[in-house]
Amino acid sequence: MVKLGELERLGTDGMDYLVLGVEVRGFEDLSAQQRVLAYYLYRAAVSGHAVFTQQSHRHALEIQTLMETLYLHREHLAPEQAEAVHDYLKYLWVNHGQYDHNSHAKVLPRLLTQEMLSDAAGRASLAGADLDPAPGEEVAGKLRRLQPHIFDASVEPLQVNQKPGDDIVETSAVNLYAPGLTQEMLDGLGAKWASRVNVRFDLEDGKAVPRLYRIGGEYSKDLETVAFFLSKAADVAEDGEQEAGLRALVEFYRSGDEEKFREYCVHWLRSNTTIDYLNGFIESYKDPRGVIGQFEANVSFVADSSLIDALADEVLYFESRMLWPKKYRRTKINKPVANVVRVIVETGDAGPQSPAAYNLPNYNDLRRDFGSKNIVLENIEGARSQGLEDAARNEFFLPHLREVHRKHGDTARRWIVYMHEVIGHGSGQPEPDLGEDPGVLVGRAYSALEECRADLVALYFMGDPKLVEIGAFTAQDQPEIVLASLVRYLQGMMMSYRSVEKPQVREAHRRGRQLVLQYLVNGGEDGNEDYGVQVVQRDGDYYVDVTDTVRARQGVGKLLERLQIIKSTGNATAAADLFERLGTHLDPDIHRNIRERAARLKIPRHTAFVFPRLIPEIRDGEVVDARLLSDEDLTEQHLRFSRLRQNTAIN
Ligand SMILES: [Zn+2]
Repeated sequence: MVKLGELERLGTDGMDYLVLGVEVRGFEDLSAQQRVLAYYLYRAAVSGHAVFTQQSHRHALEIQTLMETLYLHREHLAPEQAEAVHDYLKYLWVNHGQYDHNSHAKVLPRLLTQEMLSDAAGRASLAGADLDPAPGEEVAGKLRRLQPHIFDASVEPLQVNQKPGDDIVETSAVNLYAPGLTQEMLDGLGAKWASRVNVRFDLEDGKAVPRLYRIGGEYSKDLETVAFFLSKAADVAEDGEQEAGLRALVEFYRSGDEEKFREYCVHWLRSNTTIDYLNGFIESYKDPRGVIGQFEANVSFVADSSLIDALADEVLYFESRMLWPKKYRRTKINKPVANVVRVIVETGDAGPQSPAAYNLPNYNDLRRDFGSKNIVLENIEGARSQGLEDAARNEFFLPHLREVHRKHGDTARRWIVYMHEVIGHGSGQPEPDLGEDPGVLVGRAYSALEECRADLVALYFMGDPKLVEIGAFTAQDQPEIVLASLVRYLQGMMMSYRSVEKPQVREAHRRGRQLVLQYLVNGGEDGNEDYGVQVVQRDGDYYVDVTDTVRARQGVGKLLERLQIIKSTGNATAAADLFERLGTHLDPDIHRNIRERAARLKIPRHTAFVFPRLIPEIRDGEVVDARLLSDEDLTEQHLRFSRLRQNTAIN
């Protein structure tokens, strides 16, 4: 049976997650060699999936494995136990552990209780299930040890804590730092370790001890399996740069030498292939310091990229029109590589919850010297439930803005994504004698600042005539598209309040969007301006209204300039203050109102994706071809991923 589109919903009234089966058209049009390459990269991606789970919390994988074992023995459990275990398990899969992927707050089981868990464990043990207690530990002892991490909301409540004034290392539950480790101990290691991406910090005798992610080190067996499949992929790579990149990546996993990862990045930037992939410790949203990378991987192939490519041709045109001081504008930019792709699978930090696009690498010096690659995931960006979208528009958009949103919302969204990636992230340059990477200097607010900056570039240039010239849309439609992009962006942010429990946002992209919304509504930082954007109330419900797109653009430009100066000068205090003041806290009334309306409409807060699987065709022990099948639901997919962990068998 083909499983595409809406597969299920999770949570009370299905309001937590919409689970969508991702459609991947065109795989059969690739060559056999490309399909084989995709197969090996797919296996490499899946082999690292659990690495991210282990990074998420030190007990995350253990808890997930325990629940999977119970689920696999479900015929021996009471029906309500089996259901409760299965329900919790889906949350663990979707979030890679006990913490919400977006809010970083701990999620308690919805149906499962301590009593049910211990009874279920007893029944499963009797039926022969191996619940794998630690050496010298009974199953009951294991449950006692894990109990606070599953059921107690007050134990390690936040996976990532970035509250100013707190010791963010000590108070974040993420497994990048051992419990008890403090910022001060970390600082004791010196600058060498401060910017390292592939490391976990342990605690021994009151001292921080770095443990590298590598074969023979942290996550050894998982990374060995990843490297095994990457080597296979290198043998069938499409061009020399892709092959060299794959070999450098294998070396990186062997040695833990970050220089090898940087080599991989350069080869990846230079390669120009149909099949593309990511694999490594890439984004740092789960690190309160914003430095250590979380494992993620994907495999994709190029779809029609002509429009985004035309935008990339004009990157210098846009850079020269940035509002910020000239010394922070780049005068020479390599044309960025910009691709629209269809993604086959995403794992780790990138799946089952996925961004719609990315711009890599993250190393600022590599971006400066070699440029960056912008990838838009066409089949993720366009994935939706049409019925839900119509209902949401009618509920959350002011009547006079609905039509413009219906007509141009998709185009606006696509071009916000294109510009965010292609001319946003890559823009600007630091103060010439800054000495240190702005990301390191700005510190904890950097991710939010960078996402916000890229969004603002997109909003600022939506009305630029160049977009008409390259064929993005017609001059006649442009004014409405400008309005649609502002409305979609700002009202979309307000709508997203539905997915946070407390009236505050922590995730970087959301903090960025909240800053833009508040800044425009407030009339700048001091509230002295009118930027033509208001929050209005109609029959008790809150809406964003955009009454003047010209003024709104001025506000967008002003904030953009401010953020670029903060970034270029590495001003950590200014960044932290600005986001604390305008990019963190939500109006409690609006927050409550949005959540009530979303509850009435039963709109799920998040989307999780199920990907197809690749079936290899094997001749004389060699993979000679692969075909793609979309026949799994969330549960089947994740049980298979778990079976494939540390597994090099071809199947
Ligand atoms: Zn971004």
